[in-house]
Amino acid sequence: MGGHSCRQPFNLYWTLLYTHPMPHSMAREQDILSCRPPKRPPRLTSRRIGIHTSTAGGIFNAAERAYRLGCNTLQIFSTSPRQWAPYELSRVQCAEMSRLRAMYDLKPLVIHTNYLVNLASTNQLFLQKSVQAFRGEVERALSLCAEYLVLHPGSFRGADRERGLLQTAAAIATATHDLDLAKGGLTILIENTAGSEFSLGGTFEQVAEVIDCLRGILPIAACIDTCHTHVAGYDIVREEGIYQTLQHLDATIGLNNVKVVHCNDAKAARGSKLDRHQHIGKGMIGKKAFAILLNDLRLAHAAFIAETPIDSPGDDRRNVAALKNFVI
Ligand SMILES: [Zn+2]
Ligand SMILES: [Zn+2]
Repeated sequence: MGGHSCRQPFNLYWTLLYTHPMPHSMAREQDILSCRPPKRPPRLTSRRIGIHTSTAGGIFNAAERAYRLGCNTLQIFSTSPRQWAPYELSRVQCAEMSRLRAMYDLKPLVIHTNYLVNLASTNQLFLQKSVQAFRGEVERALSLCAEYLVLHPGSFRGADRERGLLQTAAAIATATHDLDLAKGGLTILIENTAGSEFSLGGTFEQVAEVIDCLRGILPIAACIDTCHTHVAGYDIVREEGIYQTLQHLDATIGLNNVKVVHCNDAKAARGSKLDRHQHIGKGMIGKKAFAILLNDLRLAHAAFIAETPIDSPGDDRRNVAALKNFVI
């Protein structure tokens, strides 16, 4: 960006905290596990609503946290989101996760793929690393009995978009060729993105293309992020625009294929391609989109999961409550 050198540290701070969903720094947030457990079960709605939850202290701890945050579904990272190191989960950890999920009726379990994975990479070495890391993601998702594994379709820098989409689809097939996802009840979800620069998935058509390539090869569907949809240019602010966008989503991906909705308000303007998540109802999207999405019967099967920032303690609980309050 150039200019003031004094802006540098701020930029770095901004990048680390806000470039992607999870500013879930347990350092800044009071860990809900250290509070007294709730006396009675949380008020639930007819929808599956949850939030990306910290796995600090053991992966199964996310289930207890999600329950205490008032969720009936959750999303986690199954490994450190920005590290390549291969990571295997112990059987004890997976069993404990399943036990807690059954006890608290936390369904589905959604896993978000590590941000380093780029299955559209034109660098052979990086691609190999990504395929291997993605395979690890699938293996961990299977051992955790997760229903969904969310993946960004990648960045096609150095190639063209069409080739990038095809390569991503091919790489997903390669990474999973001898794993039985259907038997494990696992579906890969391609997420729409903010569509900045070379990133794939900025339109519903691009997400649909990857899905179409893989249909019949493995269980595949979509995850739609409201913030990404807005900054990519779709109108989900005006009521008329929201219905048009839903219609377009249905015509391309198909609403029945949208298994997870990432519910994030946006800090940036429509069409800005700037991915900065904001608290539900407090950003440029506002409340209407969430109220409509959460009550649309064509999406009643979907899990609605917030990936909102934690600026002050309790923000996670408040964002879950905000989503629940929209359900009529
Ligand atoms: Zn994502
Ligand atoms: Zn995002």
